Amino acid sequence: MKTIGLIGGMSWESTVTYYQIVNHVVQQRLGGLHSARLLLDSLDFAEIEACQSSGDWEKSARLLTDAALRLEGAGADLVLICTNTMHKVAPQVQAALRVPLLHIADATAEALRAAGVDTVALLGTKYTMCQDFYTEKLIAAGIRVLIPDEPDVELVNRVIFDELCLGILKEGSRQEFLRVINALAQKGARGVILGCTEIGLLVSQADTPLPVFDTTLIHATRAAELALG
Ligand code: GLU
Repeated sequence: MKTIGLIGGMSWESTVTYYQIVNHVVQQRLGGLHSARLLLDSLDFAEIEACQSSGDWEKSARLLTDAALRLEGAGADLVLICTNTMHKVAPQVQAALRVPLLHIADATAEALRAAGVDTVALLGTKYTMCQDFYTEKLIAAGIRVLIPDEPDVELVNRVIFDELCLGILKEGSRQEFLRVINALAQKGARGVILGCTEIGLLVSQADTPLPVFDTTLIHATRAAELALG
């Protein structure tokens, strides 16, 4: 079994989910008392978020690259950035590594294609929804991406940072997310990407008839599969 290196803490609420999923997949595949070989470098999210809001992506690239190199040095065979948003700096992180970085949008595009979904709604932070670094991966895979209208981009972004990253789950916010998902389904979405690693804490497949692509689940499951070979 290969060793998975997780760059976590962004936020730690979703890193918990990564840890659970990877171990769950390994336990299911190998049975008995088996569990995953994992290394975790958990960053201080306040420092990362300050880089995001000030637009200092270079500094955040350095922080994540340092973490990735620590994981590689400690024996990780593959590395994951446990957030969609920080894949903005994935090219810099991968360039510094000898081992592979499993890109969350590549894993998600693969899952969408396997399911035959060619038009998809994307919910995530404003960076993930409105900048190119994430959607371009999906578009390159032949997938059409629909994002919410401007006021709903703000709403989804606010709920992520003010609630979900703090472990606060509100029924009102869940209903708002379902309204946004429904509006994008009306515009032609055939599936929805939960493109922020905390959204799965609030919304799940049980809440909507639209096929749900939870990036945390997809990314962590793919990592476990790669680790198992
Ligand atoms: N975990 C979230 C994501 O997947 C948001 C936190 C962040 O801004 O990194 O994008």
